[in-house]
Amino acid sequence: MKNKLYNYLLRNYWVLFTDSEKCYVNKNIRLQATNNVLSSDNIIFQNEVVKRLLEHYPTEIFLNKCPICGELARTPNAKSASCGHVWYNKDT
Ligand SMILES: [Zn+2]
Repeated sequence: MKNKLYNYLLRNYWVLFTDSEKCYVNKNIRLQATNNVLSSDNIIFQNEVVKRLLEHYPTEIFLNKCPICGELARTPNAKSASCGHVWYNKDT
């Protein structure tokens, strides 16, 4: 199962990951390239990273969600979702 929130944070907020988290991610990317399976350890890791980042950086992290379906957009500045809906942020 893909963790969309984790992937969003990984893609957009890599700078907020700790060195040990970055190290774990890099190691697992190499492992996944060979067996293409998310281990249960990795799933636990992803959930913990999501929890930690959202707790520690509630103002830094902007979860850019589609106002129609609630799905996370690709980036904090994106103005469209995979559902096809397009919107414009008031502050940009
Ligand atoms: Zn949508």
